[in-house]
Amino acid sequence: SRSLPVQQDFSRCFVSLRKAFEMKSLISLALCLGVLKGLWGQPDFPQLRQRMVREQLQSRDIVEGSVLRALRKVPRHLFVPEKYRAEAYSDPPLPIGEGQTISQPYMVAFMTQALRLKGSDKVLEIGTGSGYQAAVLAELVDSVYTIEIVEPLGEAAAKRLQALGYENIQVRIWDGYHGWPRQAPFDAIIVTAGAEALPQPLVDQLAEGGRMVIPVGPHQGVRDLVLLRKKRNGKLVRESLMPVRFVPFTREN
Ligand code: SAH
Repeated sequence: SRSLPVQQDFSRCFVSLRKAFEMKSLISLALCLGVLKGLWGQPDFPQLRQRMVREQLQSRDIVEGSVLRALRKVPRHLFVPEKYRAEAYSDPPLPIGEGQTISQPYMVAFMTQALRLKGSDKVLEIGTGSGYQAAVLAELVDSVYTIEIVEPLGEAAAKRLQALGYENIQVRIWDGYHGWPRQAPFDAIIVTAGAEALPQPLVDQLAEGGRMVIPVGPHQGVRDLVLLRKKRNGKLVRESLMPVRFVPFTREN
C-alpha cells in the first residue's frame, strides 16, 4: 500500500515530463515555422538585382560593362529603410528619411556611365544620402570622397559603408558647395542633388581632363542633367544629357 503513492508520483512525474516535452517540441516547431516563414517571406534579392540590371538598365542605354557589373553587385536593399526593402530593386527612387531619396537605379547607372571612369580615378560625390551611389563608384575606382549636408544621413551612410567593407570611401559632413579642397583635384565629380547653378568651387576642383555630372536648373522644377568636361587647356565644355528631377541642393543656413 506504500508503493502506490510512489507509483502515482512517478506516473504524475512522467505525465508532466511528457507534457513538458510536448510543449518544448511545440515551441521548437513554432520556432522552425517562424524561421521558415521568414526565409520564405524574404524576396530573392540577388535574383531581383539581376533582373533590375536586365530590365531597367540593359533594356535602356546602359552598355558599359563595368557599370553593369557594379550594379549587379552592390546590395541596394541594404541601402533603403527596412520597410522599403522589397521595393529596393524597382524602378522609382525611394525615400531614405529626412525628406531625401535614393535615386532610381537607372539614374545611378546613367550618371556613373556618363563619367567614363577608369580604375585609377579619384572621384568626389556631393549628396551621400544612403551611400548607394558612393558604393557603386567604389566598385569602379580606387578612391571615392563623398559629402553629405544632413548629419544623420551622412553618419548612417558611413556606418553602412564600413559594415559592407568599403574601405576606399571617405564620408564627410558639411556643405558640399565648397567641395573638398584638401583632396582636389578630382578626375570626376558627381552631384546627386539639383543645383540652381554650377558651384564654382566644384568647377575649380575638377582636374584637367576631368568630368562632372550635375543636375542644373530652377528650384523644384525639371532640371538639365549637365555633363561638364574640363579640357587639357582648362577650357570647359558643357553638354546637356537629359531632363531630370532631383531633390534640391541645399546650402548651410
Ligand atoms: N546619392 C544618394 C542620393 C542622394 S539624394 C544615394 O545614392 O542615396 C541627395 C542628397 O544630397 C541628400 O541626401 C541631401 O541631403 C544631399 N545634399 C543636398 N545639398 C547638399 C549639399 N550642399 N552638400 C552635401 N549634400 C547635400
